[in-house]
Amino acid sequence: MQPTLDDARKALQTYWGYSGFRPLQEEAIQRVLSGKDSLTVLPTGGGKSLCFQTPAVCLPGLAVVLSPLISLMKDQVDGLNACGIQAAFVNSTQSAEEKRLIAEQIRAGQIKLLYVAPERLLTARMLDFLEELSVSFFAIDEAHCISAWGHDFRPEYRGLKVLKERFPQAAVHAYTATASQSVREDIVRQLALKQPQILVGSFDRPNLTYRMIRATRRLEQVKEVIARHRGESGVVYCISRKEVERTAAELKQMGILALPYHAGLSDAQRQNHQDAFIKEQADVIVATVAFGMGIDKSNVRYVVHAGMPKSIEHYQQESGRAGRDSLESECVLIHSTADLATWKRIMESDSQTTDAGAVTSLEAMHALCVNPVCRHRAIVEYFGEQYQAENCGACDVCLGEVELLADAITVGQKILSCVLRQQERFGASHTAKVLAGSTEARIEQMGHHRLSTFGILADEGYDAIRVWIDQLVQQGFLDRNGEYQTLSVPEAGRRLLRRDGEPQLSVVAPTRKR
Ligand code: ADP
Ligand code: ZN
Repeated sequence: MQPTLDDARKALQTYWGYSGFRPLQEEAIQRVLSGKDSLTVLPTGGGKSLCFQTPAVCLPGLAVVLSPLISLMKDQVDGLNACGIQAAFVNSTQSAEEKRLIAEQIRAGQIKLLYVAPERLLTARMLDFLEELSVSFFAIDEAHCISAWGHDFRPEYRGLKVLKERFPQAAVHAYTATASQSVREDIVRQLALKQPQILVGSFDRPNLTYRMIRATRRLEQVKEVIARHRGESGVVYCISRKEVERTAAELKQMGILALPYHAGLSDAQRQNHQDAFIKEQADVIVATVAFGMGIDKSNVRYVVHAGMPKSIEHYQQESGRAGRDSLESECVLIHSTADLATWKRIMESDSQTTDAGAVTSLEAMHALCVNPVCRHRAIVEYFGEQYQAENCGACDVCLGEVELLADAITVGQKILSCVLRQQERFGASHTAKVLAGSTEARIEQMGHHRLSTFGILADEGYDAIRVWIDQLVQQGFLDRNGEYQTLSVPEAGRRLLRRDGEPQLSVVAPTRKR
C-alpha cells in the first residue's frame, strides 16, 4: 500500500520531533509519495531536505540523493543518523572496505537514503549496482548545478540525464533555491523530467531586516554592523579574496573573532574555519561567494555584504544564511557604482560568464540597491511573486531610514533637461559633472560649461547627482544605451518634464567633492 501524507507526518514527528510541515513541503512530499517527477524551488533555509528525506523513510526501497559537495553529504548523513534514520554516503574519502560494508548494508535493505555525488553515481559500476536494487526515487539536490544559466554550473550534473533512461520506474525529483524561470526550464529539460509538478515556494524571508547603504568608508560601515551584534554569529561577504584577507585582518586587530574563507585557502584551512564558525569559536566569517553552499548554521544573526553581489539570486542566497532559525536577523548591503564596474570587469575577463544574462542580472542587483523602494517587495517581485504589505516594517525604506527628496520632481527635471541639452550623447558621470559645475577640461572642450544646466545642482554635489541618475534610470525616466551607456530621455522622462510623474530620489550624504 502506498504511504500517505499522514504516514509522512508521523515520520516527521517520530524521527525529527517536528510538529508539522511547512505549506509547500506537504505538496512536495505528496508528489514524491505518488511516484511522479517534480521540481521544488524553495529559498535557502526553506526546508528542501525534508521534502525528500521524509518520503524516503516512508517508501519501500532506497532513495538516492545526488549532492554536489562531500562536506554537505557528511553533514546531512550525520544529521539523519542522529535522528535514528539509516543513511549513508559513498565518496572518495572512504576506504574500499568502508564502501564494501555500505554496499552490503544497502543490499540487505538496511539503508533508506544513499548520498552520492553525480560523478560517482554515473560510473558504470554504481549504475549497475543500483539497477539490481529497488530504488524508490532519485533526489537531485542543488539541481541548478545542471544549468549553465545558473550561478553554479557543474558539468558533471549534465550526465544525470541517464537516470530517466536507466531507471524508468523510479521518479526523479529536483530541488533548488534558484528561482529564475530559465534555470527552472533548463533543469526540467536537462533531467528529462516527465510532466513534473513544479512547486515554487515564497522567497520572502520576513524575519530578515534589509538595509542597503551606499559605501562611504566600507570598513567602518562593516564594523558598525558588527558592533550592533557583539558576540553573535555573522558573515561578511567581500567581492575579492584580497578584500577578504584585508577585512579579516582588520577585524582581528580590533579583537573581533573573525576568520577568512575563500577558494585560495587550502581545503583543510577552509574546513577548519568553517568548523570554528559552526562551533562558535569564531564569531565572524569573512568570505567570498565560495562560502555558503550547505552551511547549515541556524543562528547567524547578520550578513553584511561589503560589496554588491553579482545578482539578486546570489544576494537572496547569501543574505538568506541569516536567521534560518526564523528569529530576527539583519542583512546589510554596502554598495557603490564602482562595484558595478568591478563586476563588469570580472565578467569580461571570465569568458564563461560574458553573456547578456549575467549583465542583466548584475543590473537588476544594482537597481535593487539604488531604488528607494521596499526591499522585501523588490526581492520577491524579482522572483515573480506578488507582495501584499504596503509597509514591511523590516527594511531601511519602510523603517524610514532612507530619506527621500522632497522636491524630487524639480531635481529630476534639472537632470533630464541637462541630458537633452547635451543632445543625449553623454553618459552618467559626464552629465553629473556638468550639473555639479565641474571645472574638468573635457567639459570646457565640449562647451558644456556654457549650457544653462551647468552647475545648477552644484550645491548637491557630484555623488548625489550620480546616485539620482541611477535612480532615474532604474525608474524609467532615463534610458542608458549602447557601448558608451549614453543617457537619453524616454517618453516617461518627457512626461516628467511636464511635471507628469514622480520619481523617488533619496537624500544622499556628501562624501567627496569633485
Ligand atoms: P534548505 O535545504 O531548503 O536550505 P533545510 O532543509 O536545511 O533548508 O532546512 C532549514 C532548516 O529548517 C533546518 O534547520 C530544518 O531542520 C528546519 N525545518 C525544515 N522543515 C521544518 C519543519 N517542517 N518544521 C520545523 N523545522 C523545519
Ligand atoms: Zn519594506
